[in-house]
Amino acid sequence: MLVDSHCHLNFPELADNMQAVLQAMQGNGVTHALCVSVTLEKFPEVLAVAEAHDNIYASVGIHPDYEDIPDFTVEELVSLARNPKVIAIGETGLDYFRLSGDLEWQRERFRLHIRAARQSGKPLIIHTRSAAEDTLRVMREEGADQVGGVMHCFTESWEIAEAAMELGFYISFSGIVTFKNAAALKEVAQKVPLERMLVETDSPYLAPVPYRGKTNQPAFVKHVAEEIASLRGISLEEVAEATTRNFFELFKLPQPCS
Ligand SMILES: [Zn+2]
Ligand SMILES: [Zn+2]
Repeated sequence: MLVDSHCHLNFPELADNMQAVLQAMQGNGVTHALCVSVTLEKFPEVLAVAEAHDNIYASVGIHPDYEDIPDFTVEELVSLARNPKVIAIGETGLDYFRLSGDLEWQRERFRLHIRAARQSGKPLIIHTRSAAEDTLRVMREEGADQVGGVMHCFTESWEIAEAAMELGFYISFSGIVTFKNAAALKEVAQKVPLERMLVETDSPYLAPVPYRGKTNQPAFVKHVAEEIASLRGISLEEVAEATTRNFFELFKLPQPCS
């Protein structure tokens, strides 16, 4: 039993093949998935996927790469997060890789998300790229430790992982950990305690080996978990059991019976 803690099932690559995508999940023992919001405009699509399927959950938030979108308020996020299928706030965070210039607006939006998470009591899904120090600083300044969450698609150093875990955050590994050139990340995946770890696909992007370059899908989270198991010299079942338990604990959902 595995959970894909971060995917974009509403994106056309997956949404247009939903039945096949769900069947492939079942075939690989991937029982649940969290469909993550990237703009409020597309949030109704995310919620619709979650409401149509018992085993799919939703988040609400605005990805830091989307600059030209309307302003939003903490109250708006909190109100959308009231739906019981919405289990997290995000994805939010900082991305200094894709965009440059004055990114104060990114940090401001990130702060609004943290405030919304604290108000709604729903954990954060944090995206950070080439911005780790600022991400941690904003998390500390806004009291993100009071609500917790996950550092999604983690690609940073062990020191950053440790700092995030000290703030009560989980570390989620994606297909990047299966890439040959990801030696440093493979080391981090060996060190993060199993009880702080999640796995994800970030599909339709970032397909793991042996599907690298193809369209990714939640079923492929099995290859992420297999890689982590082999790096740590433990069984796939151990990784699956721990990451599944962590998912239900973090997002305050009843643990499913196995
Ligand atoms: Zn992301
Ligand atoms: Zn994502």
